[in-house]
Amino acid sequence: MTLFDDGTVSLSTVEDRVQCELALPDDEDGYQYNYLSDPEWKLTESTLTIRDGQWFLHLGFRKPSPAPECSTAENGTVLGVDLGIEHLAVTSTGRFFSGSSLQHERDQYEELQRRLQKTGTRSAYQTHRQVSRRLRRFAIDRLHRVANGILDEARRYDCSTIAFEELTGIVDRLPNQTVFDSWAFRRLVSYVEYKATVHGIDVILVDPRNTSRMCSRTDCAHVDSANRSTRDTFQCQECGYEVHADYNAAKNIGLRAVRCGHTSSHRTGISQCALKSGTIAPEKGFVPHSPGQTE
Ligand SMILES: [Zn+2]
Repeated sequence: MTLFDDGTVSLSTVEDRVQCELALPDDEDGYQYNYLSDPEWKLTESTLTIRDGQWFLHLGFRKPSPAPECSTAENGTVLGVDLGIEHLAVTSTGRFFSGSSLQHERDQYEELQRRLQKTGTRSAYQTHRQVSRRLRRFAIDRLHRVANGILDEARRYDCSTIAFEELTGIVDRLPNQTVFDSWAFRRLVSYVEYKATVHGIDVILVDPRNTSRMCSRTDCAHVDSANRSTRDTFQCQECGYEVHADYNAAKNIGLRAVRCGHTSSHRTGISQCALKSGTIAPEKGFVPHSPGQTE
C-alpha cells in the first residue's frame, strides 16, 4: 500500500494495482486530517475489510517513540485507565465515564437493523444508512468527550503518562463485545493518544494479564478469580480489600506501567500511579496528598 499526498492510495492486489481516493468525513473534526498532514505520524498497520459488498480501508498511524527529552521526568506519575462497556472508562483517580448512553444508542440501532433487514427494500436500505451514520456521529461525539475527560484528569493530577491495557486484553475479558464495541475502544485510545501529544503526555499500553483479578493493594497483590465476586465488585479473598472492580483494574493498569518503567530501557520516567487522594507505587505503597487522607 502506498499513500500519496494528493489524498489517494494505491493498493497492490494479487491481480493489479488499485488506485482509490481516500473517503474522509465531510464533517471533519480535524482528527483524521491531522494524522495525514502531520509528518510526525507515520502510517503503520492498516486493515482492509469488506462489509455488505463495500470495501473499507482503515489506516493506522503511529508516532515513533518520543525523543529522549520527552521522557526524562524522574518523578513521573501515571494515570491508569480501565476500558469497558458499562463504564467506557474508569481512571485510577476514581473518575467513572458511563457507557450507558452509547449502549442505548447501539441497542436501538441493532434492533432497527434487524427489522430493516427483514424488509429488504430500497427505502429500508436508505433508512439503515441514515441510522448508522447517526450512531457513528453520536459515538464519535461521546468518545471525544470521554477522551477529553481522561486528558483533564491526567492534567489535573499532573500525570506524565496515561496507561491503558493492550486491547487484546479487553477482547479476552469481554468475549461478548460487538464489532462496534471494539471499534469504540480503538477509537477512544487513538483520540487520547492524539490529544495527549498536544500536552506532552505519553500513552502506553500495558500487559493485560490479571488486571481484573489481582488485588491492587501493593502489599497484597493476591491473584484469584474469586476476587471478582460480581461484575462490579472486587473483594480480595486474601486481605479483604473491597472496591469497585473497574477501579481496582484501573489501579492495576497504572501500577503495571510503574513496574514497566523500572524494567524497560526506554521508559524510566514513571515512578508512581495517581489516585484521587494520593499516589501509589510498588515499593512505597500509598502516599497521601496531604496528611491523614486515606486511600
Ligand atoms: Zn488483597
